[in-house]
Amino acid sequence: MAPEPAPGAPVERAVFCDFDGTLTDTETFVAMLRRFTPDLAAELIPEMLAERLELAVGVRRLLESIPSARYPDIVAFARAASLRAGLAELLDELEARGVPFVVVSGGLRGMVEAALGPTLARAAAVYAVDVDPAGPTLRVHAPLEGDGELVSKVRAMALHPAAERVVVGDSIPDLRMALAADVVFARDGLRDYLDRRGVAWEPWDDFHDVRRALVARWGPRADGRRGARTR
Ligand SMILES: [Mg+2]
Repeated sequence: MAPEPAPGAPVERAVFCDFDGTLTDTETFVAMLRRFTPDLAAELIPEMLAERLELAVGVRRLLESIPSARYPDIVAFARAASLRAGLAELLDELEARGVPFVVVSGGLRGMVEAALGPTLARAAAVYAVDVDPAGPTLRVHAPLEGDGELVSKVRAMALHPAAERVVVGDSIPDLRMALAADVVFARDGLRDYLDRRGVAWEPWDDFHDVRRALVARWGPRADGRRGARTR
C-alpha cells in the first residue's frame, strides 16, 4: 500500500470544491457511466442516489466494467465539458487572498484534468479516482478510499488543515465534506440532503455567487483592491 499522505501546514482558510456538476455545469461522470457502461449504470446509479448502495462499491463496479480501450474516449468526453461561470474570477480572488483551492472529486482524475485544461494549474491539489487502463478493463486505484467512497472527501480535506473550511458542492458525494465544513455552498440535490440533517447552507448558482458571498464574509482584501467586477 502507498504511504498515507501527510497533511500540510495549517492555513487560515481553504476552499474545497467538488468537480462533477459543481466545477462543470453538467454531470459528466454520471453521463460518462451511462454512456460507457449503460446497463450496469441503469441498475446501480439509482441505488447509490437512494443511499442503498455505497458509492465506493457501486462506482468501483461501474468503472471496472469499462473496457480499457474506451479510456481515450472517456477523456475526450470530459474535455468537452463546460465549466461553470465565474471560476476564473473566484480563483483570482482566492489567489489574491492566499486561499488554496482544492478540487475533491469522486470521479476520474483523467476527466477532471481534461475538463479543467489550463485551469488545472490554479488548483492547490486535485483528489480524484485513478484508473489503470493497462488490463482488459479499467482497474481502480483509490489510495484515499474511505467513508464508503473511492475518494474520501473528508480524508482529502484533512490533508489541507484550515481554520475555516469552505465547501462547494452539488450532490450526495459532497455530503460528508459538507458536514465537516465551516461554510457550505450547496446547489441541487445537496441542499435536500443537508436540509434533512438540519445543516445550514449558502445558495449558489455559479462561481460569481460564491466569490461575492466569500468577499462579503471575509471583508476587504489586505491589498485594498476590490477584485472582479460584480455583475
Ligand atoms: Mg458533484
